[in-house]
Amino acid sequence: MGDRFEQTEDAWYVPESMNRFIALAFEEDYCAIMNSPGRLASAATGNGYSRMAITASTLAEFIRNLGYRAIPAGNGFGLSIPIAIDAGLGELGRLGLIVTPKYGPRVRLAKVLTDMPLVPDTPISFGVTEFCEKCMLCADECPSGAITGGERTWEGTSRSNNAGTLKWYVEGVKCYDFNGFSCSNCKRCCPFNKPNNSWLHRMVRSVIKGRVKALDNFMVTLDQASGYGRQLQGNMFWRMNGSRSITAREKM
Ligand code: SF4
Ligand code: SF4
Repeated sequence: MGDRFEQTEDAWYVPESMNRFIALAFEEDYCAIMNSPGRLASAATGNGYSRMAITASTLAEFIRNLGYRAIPAGNGFGLSIPIAIDAGLGELGRLGLIVTPKYGPRVRLAKVLTDMPLVPDTPISFGVTEFCEKCMLCADECPSGAITGGERTWEGTSRSNNAGTLKWYVEGVKCYDFNGFSCSNCKRCCPFNKPNNSWLHRMVRSVIKGRVKALDNFMVTLDQASGYGRQLQGNMFWRMNGSRSITAREKM
């Protein structure tokens, strides 16, 4: 509190003037995530962590050079998902992650805490909640049973939940125990995960955005029938795009 800026063994003390976050999202490689559960999906996750660390640190240094205070953070220093949602990067999905308009849940999040004057963005809504009410794909594909197929609630289901928000609570402990860093099944199967590279994907996104609830079930069925959410074998990954680096690809 006050103007104290100090790190002790027990806590960080941050000046009250550092009261805004810059939220950052980093795309994870589409084909590598499609390998989940597998080592290529782990590589996509690790690559995202590497890029978010260097980018958040560089941005914080840039802000400090402008004369303001700035602290870069990955998973620490506050909950990245609510911060990113407040900043308008996406909506919360059934899988407990942010779902962004362009990359779906296939992102890693970071942030920079600062006292630099900024005009805040506002949350966005593009039909994710309504679609998730009909779609159970992530719950069906979760090998640990961490994702609920039920309704949104105000109460958490495990000690890893922060109760008091209307949402789908994910049992993080189950995910953590199973995961071993290789599982991204919930991202792999999510219909919002698809690259924005064809008229079909753009049409599906428009239907969802239009909140035509009667069509949501049809869209889920269409997605399953297309086979988009199935696991991609490692040898197929290398045949398809393994020669390319794991970076954002706007044209996909
Ligand atoms: S990462 Fe895997 S285990 Fe964890 S919630 Fe997603 S699908 Fe379930
Ligand atoms: S897989 Fe379906 S239910 Fe799960 S987050 Fe994506 S759209 Fe929502």
